[in-house]
Amino acid sequence: MNKDSIADIEITAENKCGFCTGSKCCSYFTQHVDTPRSKYDFEHLLWQISHANTQVYQDTDGWYLMFRSVCTHLQDDGRCGIYATRPEICRVYDNDYCEYDEPPEKNFKRFFADYDALHAYCKKRFKKWSR
Ligand code: SF4
Ligand code: SF4
Repeated sequence: MNKDSIADIEITAENKCGFCTGSKCCSYFTQHVDTPRSKYDFEHLLWQISHANTQVYQDTDGWYLMFRSVCTHLQDDGRCGIYATRPEICRVYDNDYCEYDEPPEKNFKRFFADYDALHAYCKKRFKKWSR
């Protein structure tokens, strides 16, 4: 299918996943963390974000680690390799308005893509940040 023919097709919830390059929602997962307040808390986050493919964000529900890691069940054709027995969180996921429509980071209050971004924030937030 070429680009022109894709442009002619109405994207709906029913066909959207078929156009989603890399199956975006299967390419990362997140983990809620306690709201960091102290220097120690941020030191801990700096250690975590130092690991490859790890990011940190804050949204209206709090603070999260984001791991950019593709699910091992995602097949080359974009289908789920364990579709019939996939985890509940995958079953209830609603694609009405999903990562295909807008990158999640667009609605984050704060987003730290890497160590340097979080480190800069720490130095700004804590006047006596020593390192
Ligand atoms: S639910 Fe959304 S992000 Fe996930 S594969 Fe379908 S279109 Fe892509
Ligand atoms: S189990 Fe299947 S639906 Fe769930 S994240 Fe992995 S590939 Fe995607």
